[in-house]
Amino acid sequence: VADKRYLFTPGPTPVPPQVLEAMSRPIIHHRSSDFREILQRTFDRLRDIYRTEGDVLVFTSSGTGGMESAISNLTRPGDRVVVVSAGHFGERWAAMAQKFGCEVDTIGYEWGETPSSDDLSARLSETGGAKVVFLTHSETSTGVVADVQGLAAVAKEAGALVVVDAVSSLGAVPLETDSWGLDAVVSGSQKALMTPPGLATVSVSSDAWAAVEKDAPGRYYFDWQETRERQEQFDPAFTPAVSIVVGLDVALGLLLEEGLEQAFERHTRLGRACRAGVRAMGLELFSPDDDRSAVVTAINAPDGIDSSELVQTLRDRQGIVLAPGQGPLKGKVFRIGHIGYYDVFDITTALAGVELVLAELGADIERGAAITAALEAFEHTRV
Ligand code: PMP
Repeated sequence: VADKRYLFTPGPTPVPPQVLEAMSRPIIHHRSSDFREILQRTFDRLRDIYRTEGDVLVFTSSGTGGMESAISNLTRPGDRVVVVSAGHFGERWAAMAQKFGCEVDTIGYEWGETPSSDDLSARLSETGGAKVVFLTHSETSTGVVADVQGLAAVAKEAGALVVVDAVSSLGAVPLETDSWGLDAVVSGSQKALMTPPGLATVSVSSDAWAAVEKDAPGRYYFDWQETRERQEQFDPAFTPAVSIVVGLDVALGLLLEEGLEQAFERHTRLGRACRAGVRAMGLELFSPDDDRSAVVTAINAPDGIDSSELVQTLRDRQGIVLAPGQGPLKGKVFRIGHIGYYDVFDITTALAGVELVLAELGADIERGAAITAALEAFEHTRV
């Protein structure tokens, strides 16, 4: 079927029919009681998913807008900040903090490496600390999920605020905003939250509020205090993407109905299934072969095959949409996303497509083994 698509990217991700249905209803006014009720429920549900008693602010923007809000509300030009970077999104924190005039100290890893708390601890003690430490929970470009709990503990110990990019991890892998002491956690609607792109969510701790300088220059739309005051009255400061909020409310309800722990377990098993299938085919994993890698699986393209071409061919021939490599991994790796509204048959479909196209392109792969391996890994491994 010419226009049928199978979306297996790590964002945007497929949206459940209940969410699509809710979003197709007639538009309601953002200052009406109809919307107020939805907003109130959405904020409550977000707090449950973030596992916080604090505020979760919602912006109509992509996830990057939420990241920018953290920098513009928590830093002033000249502030010393540390960025832990091991891929595309870590680099984004550094680039953004630089643009806002921060003195940026980057702990830079090779793409695909897993950041270590010891390195962060050493850097913070050698350099006399930092105002803010910026972390990436799930580095979507490589498939690595960092130990944010450990990294945050070290940063807090050194007196820094901890800001986390959880755009591709919130709702997929464990994240405890309050008990891990995370001061700001940024996410987006279009990943594990099973909603179309368009909303950024940002939790703000009491320590973070204490660091926000009232009416400081450099922000307007993304002003946290103004946003909080208006959210408390369920009277948004600006016109929100009403339909996406309506969809997010339903999606968060579905996630909480499944249960967060159950959702985390499902993602762990999806990651295992994907990696088992990839290995059975004879391909090499780029992302770590461990249970933490439950968001996206990055795979090395076989010798002589350009991964971007593989992704394009899969899309053209089968309507299967995977993600190519980014930055230095362009042409080298391809990525299968498994966050949000996914089950094991999404994994087997993606693997079947990869197998077929690689065989056609003449790669030396084992045919017929991936799907069985994936199903077995999904079914027979308890978390
Ligand atoms: N951080 C991570 C880890 C991401 O995966 C993404 C989106 N791929 C972003 C930030 C940026 O989000 P957005 O494209 O919504 O601005």
